[in-house]
Amino acid sequence: MVSAPIKLIVVRSMCKIYYEVIRVSSMKQFDLIDLTERVEDVVRKSGIKNGLCLVFAPHATAAIIANEREYGLLQDILTFIKELVQPGRGWKHNAIDDNAHAHIGSAVIGSERAFPVIDGKLVRGTWQNIFLVEMDGPRSVRNVIIIVIGD
Ligand code: ZN
Repeated sequence: MVSAPIKLIVVRSMCKIYYEVIRVSSMKQFDLIDLTERVEDVVRKSGIKNGLCLVFAPHATAAIIANEREYGLLQDILTFIKELVQPGRGWKHNAIDDNAHAHIGSAVIGSERAFPVIDGKLVRGTWQNIFLVEMDGPRSVRNVIIIVIGD
């Protein structure tokens, strides 16, 4: 049996990269900060029509999620995260820095989310707002890098 050769097609196009670092602050130890409008604003400013938008939190104790902005649900998500990461548990890292739970939350949930950009707009579901998950607040400054890649 002879298998067909693998064909590699390279499409060359002019790829543009645009990014901004936005700054937010958190008010509580556990908090959800809605970044949606600011992310959409960066996509608009990028002028990129089709590509990908990455929202990345360069922090080991925070995370990024996309979900519905409904007050009860936001409380539910925070309740679930607290149950998951167990802030009161005797984590070893707490001996040097009392925030092991936040590191674990960041590791499990993830520091980034990627979204398609189509026809110049960030693509997200009707019930998908973009949030920074604070797990070691309050913090006066949390950076979020928003990078748009495409053409
Ligand atoms: Zn730590």
